[in-house]
Amino acid sequence: MKYKPMTGVWEITMGCNMRCKHCGSICENPQNDELTTKEALKLCKELGELGFKHITLSGGEPTTRDDWHIIAKGLKDNGIIPTMITNGWLINEEIVDKAIKSGINTVAISIDGLEDTHDFMRKSGSFQRSIKALKLMKDKGMYSAVVTTVNKQNIDQLEDMKNVFIENGVTTWQLQIGMPMGSLKENCELVLGNDAIDKIIDFGYKSLDDNRIRIHFADCIGYFNVKEMEVRKASSNSDHIWQGCGAGKNSLGILCNGDILGCTSIRDREFIEGNIRETSLKDIWTSTKTFKWNRDITKEKIEGFCGKCKYGDVCLGGCSNSRLCMENSIYKENKYCSYYMAMDRKREEIAAIDDIDNLFENAEKLAGVGEFQLSQLLLERALYLKEDDIEFLNLYAYVNFMLKNYTIAKDINEKILEIDCKNIYANKGLGLTLCKLGEVEKGIQYLKNAVKLTDYNYMAPYHDCAVTLMEYNKIEEAKDILQQAREISLDFFEKNKDLYDKLNIFATTEEA
Ligand code: SF4
Ligand code: SF4
Repeated sequence: MKYKPMTGVWEITMGCNMRCKHCGSICENPQNDELTTKEALKLCKELGELGFKHITLSGGEPTTRDDWHIIAKGLKDNGIIPTMITNGWLINEEIVDKAIKSGINTVAISIDGLEDTHDFMRKSGSFQRSIKALKLMKDKGMYSAVVTTVNKQNIDQLEDMKNVFIENGVTTWQLQIGMPMGSLKENCELVLGNDAIDKIIDFGYKSLDDNRIRIHFADCIGYFNVKEMEVRKASSNSDHIWQGCGAGKNSLGILCNGDILGCTSIRDREFIEGNIRETSLKDIWTSTKTFKWNRDITKEKIEGFCGKCKYGDVCLGGCSNSRLCMENSIYKENKYCSYYMAMDRKREEIAAIDDIDNLFENAEKLAGVGEFQLSQLLLERALYLKEDDIEFLNLYAYVNFMLKNYTIAKDINEKILEIDCKNIYANKGLGLTLCKLGEVEKGIQYLKNAVKLTDYNYMAPYHDCAVTLMEYNKIEEAKDILQQAREISLDFFEKNKDLYDKLNIFATTEEA
């Protein structure tokens, strides 16, 4: 199986006893077509057979469904660890006992602020009920967690909330950003600006110091910020770093009527991959036609900064739902990213520089020490001030190549060659780039052009051409290039002996 399933969120009902201002699913009453107990148990078996490890039961409010504990047990019986997210309103001794008996590992209660804020977001009296539920779970020795949707009302309460949770035995606290989706779309004045991401990351990082509660950042909080990575590692007890949205790759969402999605947060009709009443879960998961929006996404398909970010290949624009909610398209850049914002601040600083020599000099220096992203930003400013400068373009193409932005590097090299078809760097750069893009024959041709155009002062085209030919198993052609290079420069030969040795042409040359 190409994609190994691991985790899922299962909204077992749309019924809910609250009307929260930030409910992503706009839950009210149960739907008429919700899965029956029998269907739900059949699904538990299918999830187990596919190899899922963790499933979170949510809703709506899962405890408003009479058989929630039967479904939880069904998961457990099929080798899956069930957890549950609840608003806590109905939690009493009987429910906690049922949760323990059914094998639920952790019950997470959604708490969205100190008392006034939480009750404002949810329902009067709900904060006290949640705290009571936490106390009850603590007394019964059950793991309890809290999930907080961070918004403008509660961001300044995080420290006080943390103390309340610790006092009440909470072991894990998940923080997520309220996105303008579902009910929060109607209350979007509560949605945080992207500058809040670093504030939340700082809070999580600072909380590592006292180590009294495990802070877990949801998928929408990141990315590639050193502090965030530390928090992520601590919460997963591993070296886990963000590796892109898992929807349809290692995680899925299940709606109450058996509809299957990559993620319950991305729930428009176009993202429904099938329904387990019509197609088995295995067929939905293993089909080559499903979850394509995420399985086929590449850095190159994402517009804006994510498409040229140094982390883009791994990160793939962070949380897909953040891009969809904040930019209306999963193919737009993710402005709710810590790294995006750090680079945006740099871009603003650079926008104030008008001295193009200074811009180029620093871009060159940064490229020389491997700081390609900053070099790229400086060059973008330099090229804004002097559009067709060949030297800037050459370096810009190189820097983008090093950032694996191959399409950009190709376009820039082609642009240079339109101005100056004998430009050695552009011929070489285009050759290497085309090979990376899979146009190997054409790429090798450009590399050979670069070889023809160069002389002993700049032997890099010989090296790159020979290495590329070797990479594509064109050994005789590689030998030919290396022999030519040796005739031109003994220095090159000395410095690249490993290549000659690899092709065993040292001896050939000596004999000759
Ligand atoms: S800018 Fe985009 S690709 Fe880069 S780290 Fe942020 S979300 Fe990921
Ligand atoms: S859309 Fe966001 S929340 Fe959903 S699986 Fe992807 S990264 Fe996670």
